[in-house]
Amino acid sequence: MIEDNISKIRERISLNCLKINRPVDSIRLVAVSKNRTPEQVKQAVAAGISDIGENKVQEALAKVNKIRSQPDNGQRIKWHLVGHLQTNKVKQAVRIFDLIQSVDSIKLAEEIDKQSKKINKIQDVLIEVNTSGESSKYGFSPDETIEVIRKISNLSNINIKGLMTIAPIVDAPEKTRPYFKMLRELRDKINEYRVSSIEYQVLSMGMTDDFEIAIEEGANMVRIGRAIFEK
Ligand SMILES: *Cc1c(COP(=O)(O)O)cnc(C)c1O
Repeated sequence: MIEDNISKIRERISLNCLKINRPVDSIRLVAVSKNRTPEQVKQAVAAGISDIGENKVQEALAKVNKIRSQPDNGQRIKWHLVGHLQTNKVKQAVRIFDLIQSVDSIKLAEEIDKQSKKINKIQDVLIEVNTSGESSKYGFSPDETIEVIRKISNLSNINIKGLMTIAPIVDAPEKTRPYFKMLRELRDKINEYRVSSIEYQVLSMGMTDDFEIAIEEGANMVRIGRAIFEK
């Protein structure tokens, strides 16, 4: 089932890319495995997935340990944190995750920098932007993002790769388009203003219900859970 689901999603991504004239391999597919078992993660990996997303440090830690302790030990898996990170979990998070997608405060960025320094790591991160302005969502407002990035990009053990957003829940996928467009325009503005010395590439946006709209608006990383792990 998981294998079938993944090939269906890849097919949809391919068609979508064809339609808008983008190379298929420009889209990174992150399988979000929160609330799924290590066995399910292994099935996704066997079906060709190399990026796994989790939203809680504790849950991820258990899965990482389980999977790494087994024979075909998933060394090639890249682990992504996509959920909110509390500062008291950062020490563990920097030991597990290849990409922390949910940097949503300067205090959190400073703690990631501090804990990464201790283990001699440069931690790759994305800056989370609350494009819808909903109070239930984490992330910086689009207006403050450039200023925030100026500060965070001075931290020596953090490497900002791009931006992440979560669209609001809507009754038709098309309605998510303005939020994805906003994130892309923000990324382009950051690069145009040379806010950092390196160009930001990654736009992590789009989930089960809206990934095609996100890709049309420039997503190059989509985070998909239900469409991979559920019937
Ligand atoms: C759960 C989750 C996803 C995946 O959502 P689906 O709708 O199941 O595809 C993506 N991003 C984040 C931040 C999530 O928490």
